[in-house]
Amino acid sequence: MSKVVIVTGGSRGIGAATSKLLASKGYAVCVNYHSRVADAESVVSQITALGGRAFAFAADVSNESDVIKLFEATEKRFGNITHLVNNAGILFPQSRLVDLSLERFNKVMSTNVNSCFLCCREAVKRINAGGAIVNVSSAASRSGAPNEYIDYAASKGAMDTLTKGLSLEVAADGIRVNCVRPGFIHTDMHADGGEPNRVERLSSQIPLQRGGKPEEVANAIAWLLSDEASYVTGSFIDIAGGK
Ligand code: NAP
Repeated sequence: MSKVVIVTGGSRGIGAATSKLLASKGYAVCVNYHSRVADAESVVSQITALGGRAFAFAADVSNESDVIKLFEATEKRFGNITHLVNNAGILFPQSRLVDLSLERFNKVMSTNVNSCFLCCREAVKRINAGGAIVNVSSAASRSGAPNEYIDYAASKGAMDTLTKGLSLEVAADGIRVNCVRPGFIHTDMHADGGEPNRVERLSSQIPLQRGGKPEEVANAIAWLLSDEASYVTGSFIDIAGGK
């Protein structure tokens, strides 16, 4: 089976590492991004320089028509879509719930949850038996992220539940749906959250005494997508250094 994957939010961080790893394993990769075109094109260049197949596609994955265009463009480019990684996500600066605006809460939910719903829906219409989906949740779904990002944590809790439900719904169709829950990973997302050095600050609280690398998350995603995980569905891998 020719493997074709969409990685949402593939322009940087965990999505970029996942796109590159999957391409090295023979997947044709759609590197989705929102606004950072140069970063997305750089990921594609790194893949094609090594003989892999990839293209970049701008789509706001919280927007229904953008998501449909993303899937149609990938099919047109590479043929039948076989795998999906729902990785795109955002968080905003640390705040207590009492100070959160509804506008911010809705933005986090639509970017992190509506995107997962829309992409899963378009994927299960197209993916045949043997295909797989991985959702990128967060350890925050377990911690609740009090005093920091309860909105973000709640969005990841919704992703966890969506993963469980959909995995059971499509299991008999031969489609597997799993989830990874990273902890503190070295990416630029923490600057968006108002604290670029957050991972360093919290390292001593992590049992393994360090933050994770995007590639360490990508490895778990690639395994869950692969046939090596052929009897794994509705499962969650915590990649959080023991936290
Ligand atoms: P990141 O470096 O901030 O990258 C986020 C990616 O998502 C970018 O490619 C961005 O595209 C894309 N994106 C954002 N909004 C989008 C939208 N509306 N439509 C399409 N793409 C969109 O983040 P990261 O740290 O790699 O995190 C990736 C995933 O892992 C997220 O779901 C995050 O919640 C989760 N996670 C991260 C950590 C961590 O410590 N880093 C921990 C737990 C979970 P542009 O660059 O074009 O804007």
